[in-house]
Amino acid sequence: MEQKNGFVKIDGKKISATIKEEIAAEVAQMTGEGKKPPHLAAILVGEDGASQTYVAAKVKACEQVGFKSTLVRLGAEVSEEALLREIRKINDNPGIHGLIVQLPLPKHIAVDKVTAEIKPKKDVDGFTPANVGRMTLGWPAYISATPNGIVELLKRYELETSGKHCVVIGRSHIVGSPMSILMGRNDYPGNCTVTLTHSRTQNLKEIAASADILIVAIGKAGFVTGDMVKPGAVVIDVGIHRIADDSKKSGYRLVGDVVFDEVAEKASAITPVPGGVGPMTIASLLYNTLLAAKGEIYP
Ligand code: NAD
Repeated sequence: MEQKNGFVKIDGKKISATIKEEIAAEVAQMTGEGKKPPHLAAILVGEDGASQTYVAAKVKACEQVGFKSTLVRLGAEVSEEALLREIRKINDNPGIHGLIVQLPLPKHIAVDKVTAEIKPKKDVDGFTPANVGRMTLGWPAYISATPNGIVELLKRYELETSGKHCVVIGRSHIVGSPMSILMGRNDYPGNCTVTLTHSRTQNLKEIAASADILIVAIGKAGFVTGDMVKPGAVVIDVGIHRIADDSKKSGYRLVGDVVFDEVAEKASAITPVPGGVGPMTIASLLYNTLLAAKGEIYP
């Protein structure tokens, strides 16, 4: 555990590499016993540069751990019905364990309709109503990648959560909202008293400053400053932003929703950007796909 000037820097890069090694070892054992390796299918619609990069990283990660992967590429003009047909084909293919549809989708396609078409049993992104409902009820469920990754970081760093006040900033369906449910459930990590804050919250500064665990998923670079953080708090920064920086070869650097240096001075533990929550996302997706292949969520 890397401890810097009194605070622990939560190393998502290292933990995600460890998780990938653990998954690879399990896959090697499965195939050694004559079983088929986990198989993930990804559907990519259109030519969006960021989406292509994300999907390529997911496919590469599958190869690294010994999974099979199938990438279905559809043109930006594809009709909603044709996309739904592709999903049904994969739903019905017994050789494929997990299916993800890379977001965002072109405007003429209804995301909710597409998400709802994915068989819950194969929904390794954990976006379908069935999996969100199961998670809320505390049933076995695929939990979406980013919240799952945060839960895993808290676990692996053995950070105490029971009885703590957890403040979540942001209520998106993919991060803030599920995070608030997970931190409030009767489990570890969990058993927090949770405050879910959003754009209409009043006195956000005071509420944030009362958090023992502060989870920030607002999508505004440097929003959380040192004065918004209680001494000794655990701070999880989900935001990722590219800031122009001529001193870098790439011409930019990555920052989070939290002003790292200021907040690290007060925190007991904090995730950096990059290298904190981000790298955990793909590890979580791989983990869910392994669960799918083993039939652990939907036996
Ligand atoms: P989003 O835009 O869907 O949601 C932002 C939330 O912040 C909304 O619920 C909104 O109500 C709230 N908000 C906006 N202004 C506010 C204010 N002034 N005070 C309080 N709340 C306010 O964002 P998201 O999809 O949850 O993503 C958040 C950030 O996390 C983005 O920077 C995104 O790029 C990043 N992200 C990172 C990962 C990762 O793997 N590390 C994954 C998903 C998202």
